[in-house]
Amino acid sequence: MNERDFFNEQPETKRMTFACPHCRERGEYDVRWLRRTKKPQPPRHANEQDRARFAKSRDYMVRVDDMLACRNIRCRKRFEIPNSQSVVFIVPAR
Ligand SMILES: [Zn+2]
Repeated sequence: MNERDFFNEQPETKRMTFACPHCRERGEYDVRWLRRTKKPQPPRHANEQDRARFAKSRDYMVRVDDMLACRNIRCRKRFEIPNSQSVVFIVPAR
């Protein structure tokens, strides 16, 4: 049983601000994410353990891009997006 059995996936782009570690210039970048929205039902072939996992799982977004190219034309170096921001849980709207 993998994530695709539990979630519907939808690509999304988020505009985020990062400072390039090479030239220190801050810029806005369009970062690709995958939104995983929990399916209304667990899959038919799910066993007891899968169902328990399904019940506990929540919608979340996972970052697709790892690297960005600096937008500063005098720099243009590639840098890694900080790892701490690779998964975001979505708080359900009330
Ligand atoms: Zn740079």
